[in-house]
Amino acid sequence: MEYIDLVEVFEKLEKTSKRLEKTYILSELLKKATKEDIEYIIYLVQGRIFPQWDQREIGMSSKLIVKLLSSVTGSSNEDIERLWSKEGDLGNVAFILIQKNKQRTLSSYKLTVKKVIENLRKLTELEGIGTVNKKIQLVAELLTSAKPLEAKFIVKNVLGTLRVGIAGGILRDAIVWAFFDKEIELNYDKEQKTFDVNREKYNYYVDSVQRAYDMTNDFSKVALLIGKNGIKNLEKEKLSPGNPINVMLYQKAEDIEDAFKIVGKPCAFEFKYDGIRLQIGKDSNGKITVFTRRLEDVTKQFPEVVLYVDKYVNSKTFILDSEAVGYNPKTKKYLPFQSISQRIKRKYDIKSMSEKFPVELNIFDIMYYNEEVLLNKPFKERRKILEKITKQEKLKLVLAKQLITSDKKEAEKFFKESLAQGEEGVMAKNLDGIYRPGSRVGYGVKIKPTADTFDLVIVKAEWGEGKRSKWLTSYTVACKHNDNLLEVGKVSTGLKEKGDELTFDYMTKTLKELIKEEKGRNVVVKPEIVMEVGYSEIQKSPTYSSGYALRFPRVIQLRPDRSIKDIYTLDDIKIAYKKQKK
Ligand code: AMP
Repeated sequence: MEYIDLVEVFEKLEKTSKRLEKTYILSELLKKATKEDIEYIIYLVQGRIFPQWDQREIGMSSKLIVKLLSSVTGSSNEDIERLWSKEGDLGNVAFILIQKNKQRTLSSYKLTVKKVIENLRKLTELEGIGTVNKKIQLVAELLTSAKPLEAKFIVKNVLGTLRVGIAGGILRDAIVWAFFDKEIELNYDKEQKTFDVNREKYNYYVDSVQRAYDMTNDFSKVALLIGKNGIKNLEKEKLSPGNPINVMLYQKAEDIEDAFKIVGKPCAFEFKYDGIRLQIGKDSNGKITVFTRRLEDVTKQFPEVVLYVDKYVNSKTFILDSEAVGYNPKTKKYLPFQSISQRIKRKYDIKSMSEKFPVELNIFDIMYYNEEVLLNKPFKERRKILEKITKQEKLKLVLAKQLITSDKKEAEKFFKESLAQGEEGVMAKNLDGIYRPGSRVGYGVKIKPTADTFDLVIVKAEWGEGKRSKWLTSYTVACKHNDNLLEVGKVSTGLKEKGDELTFDYMTKTLKELIKEEKGRNVVVKPEIVMEVGYSEIQKSPTYSSGYALRFPRVIQLRPDRSIKDIYTLDDIKIAYKKQKK
C-alpha cells in the first residue's frame, strides 16, 4: 500500500470524533490492505511501530527533528522554531515546510507503508555515539520523498505524537467489521452513521477478538491469526512466553462472608502481598522476561527475579503470575510497595538497587507450562502444577501462602495473620476458576480492611503561584465509571519541595510530557499518572463530575505499576461513602 493512502485515512480519522465512523473508516482500510500491510497499518494507526509492550524506542528528540527539517527544506533552525511555537506541533510544521518548499525537485519516488515502517524500525536498532547522523539519514530519506501530508505523519510517528483517536475498543471492532462483516450481517449507514448487526453473532466475534487481544496485547498479531486461521483457531495459537498477556483482575469483597458468596465454598484464601505484580515468562530458548501489569518490560530491573525463577522453577517453558515483595535486607522484615516502587523505572545502578531493595517473589498462578496453555484448567490444578515444579526458598522464591477452607472462623484467623505480617489482606479464589486474562471476573476476590485510600488518575493540574509558579502543584484526580473518567477532587498536600520522589519538581517534569491543553494556570493532561490518595471523608458534591468529593485529600504515593485500568471506580467510592455513614 502506498503511504499516502494511509495518511489520507489518518486525516479522516483525525477529523471525526464519532466512534462508529472511525470504526467504519478503519475497517474499510483493513479490507483493502494486503496481509503484510495489515500488520504495519495496525501499529502505525496507534502511533507505534511495534506492539505496546515492546521496549524498542526510536529515540529522536524534537530538537533533532528541527535540525533534520532544516537540512531537508533549507529553512533555518530559527524559522522552524518560530513556526513550531506558533503551530505547537512539529508534524504540522513539517507539513507547512514541505508544502512551501518550491525549489524541491518533485520526487517521483512513491513512499510505501512498508518503506516507512522499515526505516522507522531501523532507527530503534541504532544506539550510542555516531548514530545520530545515521538516524537523520533514515528519516531524511523518507522526508525527501514525502508529500506534505506524509511528512506530517512521519514526523508525528517519529516523535510519538501521532494520535488519531483510535483506542483499543475501536480497533477491535474495526477488525471484526473488516474480517467478519458477512458473519455479523453488518449494515453500516454512511449517511446516518449508524449500524445494524446480528447482535448475538456480533458479541461472539467481538468477545473472541478481545480475548485474543488480552492474550497477545497485539492487534496486529490478532489480525494476522484471523487471516491465517479464521476465528476458530484464534485461541490455540496465542500464548507464547515473552509476549505478555493482560493479567486477570480481582473484584472486591466486603468481608469473608461476602467472599464465600462470590467464589463459593470451599475456596482458597491466600495472603494478599503488597508488592509489584510481575508476570514472568520463559520461552523454549530459555529466555526469561519480566513484565509489570502495565506490560512494561522490567527484566533488566529485576535481575534477581530472573535468577530465582531460572533456578527454582523446574520447567522448560512457563508464564507465571506473581507478586514481588520488598524486604529489609538487614532485618529481613517485609516492606510495603512504596519501598520498592522506584525499582520499576530505574535504568542505572541496578545491581546496587537490587541489593538495597531486594524482593522475594511470591508466585500465585501459572498460565502456561511446558508448551501447554493452562488458562482453562481449574485453579486448583494450576496450583498443583506450581507446587510440583517450584522449589521454595524463603526471601527468594515462594508460593503464595494458602489456606483452603469453608470455615469462616479459620478464614478470619488467616486474614488477621496476613495483616499481622504487614500484608494488605487476603485473596479468596474459586478452586475451579479458570484464568481469564484482562477481566475482573468473579473467580477471585480481594478482601482488605476498609479502604481509606483510593488509586486515582490525574486528569488536570494547576501551575502554582509565587515562588511555586515553576511547578504544577495541584492535581485534579478522577475515578472511572465504564469508559469515563469522573473527577473526585483536587490534591496538593503530601508533596515536598525537595527530595528524590514525590516532589513538585518530579511531578511537574512527569506531567509536562502529558499536557494536552493549557489555559492560563490550568492544564489538562493525558490520564496516565496513577496516585494513591488518602482523605478524611467522602462528601456528596456538585463540584466534581463524579458527584462526590474527597475532603482533605492528600497524596500517599505514586503507583507507577498501575494504569487507568486499575484505578478505583465510582462504585468503589459509593461503597466507601455508604460505609462511613454507618
Ligand atoms: P488490588 O491491587 O487491590 O486490585 O488487588 C489485586 C492485586 O493484588 C493483584 O493485582 C496482585 O498484584 C496483588 N496480589 C497480592 N497477592 C496476591 C495473590 N495471592 N493472588 C493474587 N493477587 C495478589
